[in-house]
Amino acid sequence: MNFKPSASALGLVAVDHFDYIIAGAGAAGLSLAWQISQSPQLADKTVLLLDQEQKVKNDRTWSFWAEKGMEIFPDLLYRSWDQIQFLTPERNLNLHMGNYRYHLIRGEDYHRQLREKLGQEERFVFRQARIEDLGSDAQGGWVKSEAKTYTSSYVFSSLYEKPSAERLKGHIYLLQHFVGHVVRSKEAVFDIHRPVMMDFRVPQLNHPTFMYLMPFSAHEALVEYTLFSPQTLEPSAYEEAIRAYLKTYYALEEYEVLHEERGAIPMTDYAFPSGDDQAVVNIGTAAGMSKASTGYTFYRIQKHSRNIVHQLERGQSPALAQQQSSWKLKMDKLMLHLMLKEGNDTWKIFQELFENNPIHRVLSFLNEETGYFEDLLIMNSVPSAPFIRAVIETGWKFS
Ligand SMILES: Cc1cc2nc3c(=O)[nH]c(=O)nc-3n(C[C@H](O)[C@H](O)[C@H](O)COP(=O)(O)OP(=O)(O)OC[C@H]3O[C@@H](n4cnc5c(N)ncnc54)[C@H](O)[C@@H]3O)c2cc1C
Repeated sequence: MNFKPSASALGLVAVDHFDYIIAGAGAAGLSLAWQISQSPQLADKTVLLLDQEQKVKNDRTWSFWAEKGMEIFPDLLYRSWDQIQFLTPERNLNLHMGNYRYHLIRGEDYHRQLREKLGQEERFVFRQARIEDLGSDAQGGWVKSEAKTYTSSYVFSSLYEKPSAERLKGHIYLLQHFVGHVVRSKEAVFDIHRPVMMDFRVPQLNHPTFMYLMPFSAHEALVEYTLFSPQTLEPSAYEEAIRAYLKTYYALEEYEVLHEERGAIPMTDYAFPSGDDQAVVNIGTAAGMSKASTGYTFYRIQKHSRNIVHQLERGQSPALAQQQSSWKLKMDKLMLHLMLKEGNDTWKIFQELFENNPIHRVLSFLNEETGYFEDLLIMNSVPSAPFIRAVIETGWKFS
């Protein structure tokens, strides 16, 4: 018998085998584990979730919109709204969302509840460890932490690294960067019925610059100062902008900051790889789930997880679950180009978009749930001069 003792048999490294390893138990990792747990066809699969953190901090809140009755994690919705506000120096649009609702989930609740629910099944194993390397070979996937090497049929990785300058050549790479404060005031100043999706009345810093305000009560709101630009700002700049905004538009000078969150989400037309073409499959931001033209990621992550599970159920490659149509990618590229070129005037394009279309069309367009015809209506609704310029400059083809 040709028996070759493995490193683990020799006691050099401890190897644990699972059907699936989820590298990074954040938004995408937990979403995928949850979708696996809901699939009767995958009921016998073992899943290891590895993360370097305990994930007990409330380091982010996720907002997204979904059609009524199609809510994701209904138990986890911290707040939901039927209308949104869109403001510019020229307009104050109060938009009733029709068949959509705008939702907010707190990271803390998401992590705690999903970990608790998944932890009730022995086949879902959580381990806290820093992943040092991962990859695949003819036998499947592997993940190395300092203490152990784990193997599996598939590794689903949400470990994100910014693509190299070489890879980004010829692509637009912006960041949606922001600092958000959950503030509490003595005075009742916030309108709990109307979250502010974008308020462009703040000074434009050569790139789209806006405030985002989610009211939790008349006294409490999440206020985020956000830019779509290549570089982040000095930390104090965000805080000062929030302070100035609350003073100018809410007459609020004294307030308590209950919580802070900060982020820099990639907005790029670079096509992130779906994996390593073998057993490693990327998920989350690492798989390009942040929509290039908006930075919204959470909703797309949920769709991606469902698609991965469908692929696994059918015995097909989960790497094929990640497919943005080339048409939608072109639309994103065009919008990114417009943001880069129009600079301080980009808000006018957003204004036309929100003013000249039913809100349902805009929201389904941004969620990539529109067809060609609706997309053409959207394209026709924004100012034609910059749009035509962008079409020419990006070498856009209607094919
Ligand atoms: C503050 C903030 C607010 C956001 N708000 C929204 C929003 O409102 N709507 C929206 O659609 N999107 C939002 N996003 C964007 C996006 O939804 C989130 O970034 C989301 O968390 C991305 O999910 P992910 O699984 O790719 O990454 P993460 O949730 O960051 O998960 C990756 C996990 O990998 C772990 N990890 C990384 N490296 C290692 C390693 N070497 N070893 C072990 N573990 C590792 C991390 O600890 C982390 O838990 C926000 C992002 C931020 C930062």
